[in-house]
Amino acid sequence: METLTAPQKKTSPAKEIQKIQNYVNGKWVTPETTEYLDVTNSATGEIIAHVPVSTGKDVSSAIEAAQAAFPAWRETPPAERVKYFFRWKNLLEENFEEIARLCTIEHGKTLIESRGDLRRGIDNIDNVIGIPSLIMGESFEDIAKGIDCRSVRRPLGVFTAIAPFNFPPMVPMWFLPYAVACGNTFVLKPSEQVPLSQVKIFELIDKCGFPAGVVNLVNGTKDVVNTFCTHPLVKGVSFVGSSPVAKHVYETGCKHGKRVQALGGAKNFLVAMPDANIDVAAKVMCDSGFGCAGERCLAGSVILAHKDIYPRLRDKVVSIAKTFKVGNGLYPDTGMGPVISKVHKEKVLRYIETGIKEGATLLMDGRNVTVPGHENGFFLGLTIFDNVKPEMTIAKEEIFGPVVCIIKVEDLDHAISIINSNPYANTSSIFTDSGSAAREFSYKIDIGMIGINLGVPAPMAFFSFGGAKESLFGDLKAHGKHSIYFYTDTKTIVSRWDHTMPRKSEQ
Ligand code: NAD
Repeated sequence: METLTAPQKKTSPAKEIQKIQNYVNGKWVTPETTEYLDVTNSATGEIIAHVPVSTGKDVSSAIEAAQAAFPAWRETPPAERVKYFFRWKNLLEENFEEIARLCTIEHGKTLIESRGDLRRGIDNIDNVIGIPSLIMGESFEDIAKGIDCRSVRRPLGVFTAIAPFNFPPMVPMWFLPYAVACGNTFVLKPSEQVPLSQVKIFELIDKCGFPAGVVNLVNGTKDVVNTFCTHPLVKGVSFVGSSPVAKHVYETGCKHGKRVQALGGAKNFLVAMPDANIDVAAKVMCDSGFGCAGERCLAGSVILAHKDIYPRLRDKVVSIAKTFKVGNGLYPDTGMGPVISKVHKEKVLRYIETGIKEGATLLMDGRNVTVPGHENGFFLGLTIFDNVKPEMTIAKEEIFGPVVCIIKVEDLDHAISIINSNPYANTSSIFTDSGSAAREFSYKIDIGMIGINLGVPAPMAFFSFGGAKESLFGDLKAHGKHSIYFYTDTKTIVSRWDHTMPRKSEQ
């Protein structure tokens, strides 16, 4: 495992910058496009690769390869398909540190966070090793005298997925293993901001021996997405990203007859009741709000503090936040890395200005943080707003940066009404010692994933992951059983083989 302990000076001559390729029909190919975008190291601002903006034609060739590979892959027994996943899993474990390091370089999160990102991705491969059981259908003897009925789950064809920037290794693994283990073929588009860890992951996929065309990778931006949503050979689209794009993908895909699951943005609330353990709650809230620089769809960005504990909790949160060291995620003492890009940093800065203008009190100001030796990195410091009102922009909109707001609430009903009036509904948590408050909270909030004394209540791979309202377009969530339903259709066979009736030869 390699970790840096101090900023390194660049002494080697400038290297040629890598031009990323696509992986289509079992080969690395240079796409037709002439347009490329810069990929940057978020901690240094350096350009580290060029990613192609693939054209509709580049995407079509991947979709056609996936379609051609489908009939034979569909006929490969699930227990045989699993063998490829064993190989992939082993290769991922062998290359674990290299992938985690790439994730930190392209994204900015700390190495510990990158390891968690990859581990939670691999969990999905562990889960699909059980596909022969997961994909089993249902059967029933004697639905009527001498008549049996069975329902089998079958794959559909070519599925596609589109990933966001914030979990570069993990999010594609919410989809690829399930789609392919169920017998479909697959085309992935990673985020153009973080394509490098997927290049490495596909180099490993290439070594697994999947038949050509079963798994494909196409880099690019919205043209790739729109081709996925409209191409006649595509059966379904899985999407994760911001709500406006999720909605667009859902509407376009559905209009073109696809199955679509589109996971969108979030605004997550952390409720602290008077009987909460304040020290534990404050620590967990800081990890939730500032982990991954606030760029997690499960990040708690608004604390709803009961009036009886509000000042103590606020002071504790601030004192813990002050202990985070902002820096390069490759260094072991870094508590929070940079945000993804200069553009995103500017967006978060605008939200901080809006919070000030709307009258919130800035308790911790992360606008002018500097990280020695990293003057061009996309760093922001931890930012905390007090005296926030539910109607303020910073309390309502997704900021997706290291900004935490504190609102004082009268009671649990007040907290629930704030949560339920927000259009997002990905996750929210309560901190309490009361089972009945926890139950009432879980029962009354219209939220997809709920935490009780937890700040990031991420369901494991064998449960399904997804929100509600503007945080999820579609009715099936990611991984777990929902994935099996999304990536298969049922076929029901009713048969009469009545052994009590005389056989023809006996008549
Ligand atoms: P984004 O919506 O900007 O991009 C997501 C994907 O869509 C990328 O691959 C991008 O290339 C593509 N895209 C962007 N604009 C497009 C357009 N106009 N038309 C078609 N495709 C387009 O999201 P992001 O900034 O990469 O990721 C952050 C967002 O993802 C946040 O809103 C976060 O909450 C959300 N997210 C949600 C979950 C969840 O489980 N609900 C998980 C992770 C991230």
